[in-house]
Amino acid sequence: MMADTITALETLLMQGSLSDPELLAAAEQAPDYRILPEATVIKIGGQSVIDRGRTAVYPLVDEIVAARSAHKMLIGTGAGTRARHLYSIAAGLDLPAGVLSQLGASVADQNAAMLGQLLAKHGISSVSNAGLSSVPLFLTQVNAVVFSGMPPYNLWIRPPAEGVIPPYRTDAGCYLLAEQFGCKAMIYVKDENGLYTGNPKTDKKATFIPRITVDEMKARGLQDSILEFPVLDLLKAARHVREVQIVNGLVPGNLTRALAGEHVGTIITAA
Ligand code: ADP
Ligand code: MG
Repeated sequence: MMADTITALETLLMQGSLSDPELLAAAEQAPDYRILPEATVIKIGGQSVIDRGRTAVYPLVDEIVAARSAHKMLIGTGAGTRARHLYSIAAGLDLPAGVLSQLGASVADQNAAMLGQLLAKHGISSVSNAGLSSVPLFLTQVNAVVFSGMPPYNLWIRPPAEGVIPPYRTDAGCYLLAEQFGCKAMIYVKDENGLYTGNPKTDKKATFIPRITVDEMKARGLQDSILEFPVLDLLKAARHVREVQIVNGLVPGNLTRALAGEHVGTIITAA
């Protein structure tokens, strides 16, 4: 950024409204700084992976341990069936989204605790707050760290337009971490090969979509399918992480290949 742009930005920041269009435009010109450009964020699905237990989780643990000789990984956990159960009870009790967000976070925490224990003997730790703190140190020393995927909005989550299910859950939490840190890539590990024209669990005629943009996904009515819907808008507005890949973690080797930059699942792009 040129010196006069910096001065202009400073003047606008000190004197104007913080949402002034001129200020926003000037801030947009500021250079992008990536905090953790070498790291890849991996989300291990809650319902789709961890809830399947040993058969799904152990092979992924082996892949993570092997991959860390070549990759730096921030490993986030989903919540899954226990969270859905909690949401149904709490919603039935007329509790608000903020309370459900806290309940969901506690389940993602449980999954991070379990994954952390499995990786412990390999020197990989689970951290309770992935918002930096010791994360860079862990990445430098052992190339991997486990975190709980739910974003920490808790009671302060923006309530959804309808209902009380928190719209920003672990898909969004992991994505936001990747984008804020300016990470290299975001990989979702789930239990299907990627995105299909319909839910492959119930629609036997659904066909696989290897690559798609956010707009195409919306045009095809798939905005609330394999990823939480707010992730699409976050992706579209992103500065750093302009695509994500969804891979089938039940297929051995897929995570390793995706980490190496191979196209093994569905790639969703911002544009
Ligand atoms: P996570 O465990 O990461 O929370 P989810 O279970 O929420 O993952 O999301 C993955 C699931 O989304 C798949 O198991 C699949 O059944 C479902 N799904 C719904 N619609 C689609 C679609 N169009 N393509 C692929 N999967 C879909
Ligand atoms: Mg989910």
